[in-house]
Amino acid sequence: MATLNTPPRPVTEITDRQEIANRPSANLEHVSLIGLSDAELASELTNLGVSQHQLRMRIAQLKRWIYVHGATTADPMTDVSKDLRNLLDNHTTLARPPIVSEQVSRDGTRKWLLRLAGDGTSNRAPEVETVYIPETDRGTLCISSQVGCTLSCTFCHTGTQRLVRNLTSGEIIGQILLARDKLGDWPGAERPTDGLIPDGERAITNIVLMGMGEPLYNFDSVKQAMLIAADGDGQSVSKRRITLSTSGIVPQIPRWGDEAGTMLAISLHAVRDVLRDELVPINRKWPIAALLEACRNYPGLSNAKRITFEYVMLKGINDSLAEAKELVRLLAGIPAKINLIPFNPWPGSPYECSDWEQIERFAEVVNKAGYASPVRTPRGRDIMAACGQLKSASTRLRASERRAGDAEAPA
Ligand code: SAH
Ligand code: SF4
Repeated sequence: MATLNTPPRPVTEITDRQEIANRPSANLEHVSLIGLSDAELASELTNLGVSQHQLRMRIAQLKRWIYVHGATTADPMTDVSKDLRNLLDNHTTLARPPIVSEQVSRDGTRKWLLRLAGDGTSNRAPEVETVYIPETDRGTLCISSQVGCTLSCTFCHTGTQRLVRNLTSGEIIGQILLARDKLGDWPGAERPTDGLIPDGERAITNIVLMGMGEPLYNFDSVKQAMLIAADGDGQSVSKRRITLSTSGIVPQIPRWGDEAGTMLAISLHAVRDVLRDELVPINRKWPIAALLEACRNYPGLSNAKRITFEYVMLKGINDSLAEAKELVRLLAGIPAKINLIPFNPWPGSPYECSDWEQIERFAEVVNKAGYASPVRTPRGRDIMAACGQLKSASTRLRASERRAGDAEAPA
């Protein structure tokens, strides 16, 4: 809890919008090869004239250069013919999303604000945030799946920003590649010297879909990206080290388990429907009982593969000991971990974080029921990088555009 009451020290910030505008990544004529499925890579390579019998070999080579070595151009791809390398450089790109700003917290947490391509309907490009949280034995990358969110959980900063658009698979994987670039997390690359990076071979050992957006409302792109993240020819991050957090899009939960099979976290936050309806309004559609039923049936669930239940501690709202007891009663029989998240305030937020003594008392009830170390230490609060503080300044949509965005979400 060291970050709770200590004033933030100055942060590093790099902002050069003109430089970003001049980068080659702004060239939309180049097709990005990041985040493509094998079939999509095959189609791009065929367009460049690669013959059918060479496709498999070329796809394997490309994936190795992109995801194992972190290539940003075709230049280092020494086992690819010079002609094909020229074609790749002239017609495709491996550019990362441009960084609008980078901040490093006093606790070593890093936050990048990234610029994405606009759809031409607005003169401001959409932006998303990616956060890196280092610990001594692991490094967790928290990635975004949407610009904004269609849901409006009352305690969440992202929830105050309307959905602008879903991220593509390339933009989701691009966040990982960019973080690995910045952390020197490629073979032979140099690690940054400012801030903590865990010991061990990899700076990023875990991925959590806990940034901006509701990942199950962008199912296909998030799935394609996470399959590449887990693939041995991709980022090779084990599915046990990838966690998708959802506010409770019940029909998509079994599908995610079957088709992607990562770890799951549920933003529960309340033990009664009346309160959850208010805090997490999607509860009006899929109430607590339906959500827990989907959890009980989550494919592959076992004591070794538990669901994490997230519970944000809101002073006087959901933090009574009666609620703590009800929480453990509700979760009985589900292989579960409980994560109590001290509420992270943001400008204008309508709640306060529970008192630390109350969090401890609540945690004790949870502990006694057999759940270990349930309180999550807030990280990166001084740079607004903690859970629920992410919000980019992307343009708000007009009402008509917003309705179109809402319609994309499987209802
Ligand atoms: N949309 C998904 C994932 C992104 S939010 C979801 O809701 O699960 C990631 C986690 O941060 C969720 O558990 C969310 O409820 C929590 N969160 C949101 N705002 C918060 C805040 N201000 N303080 C603490 N946690 C917050
Ligand atoms: Fe969206 Fe999750 Fe925030 Fe709710 S908590 S508004 S689902 S990002």
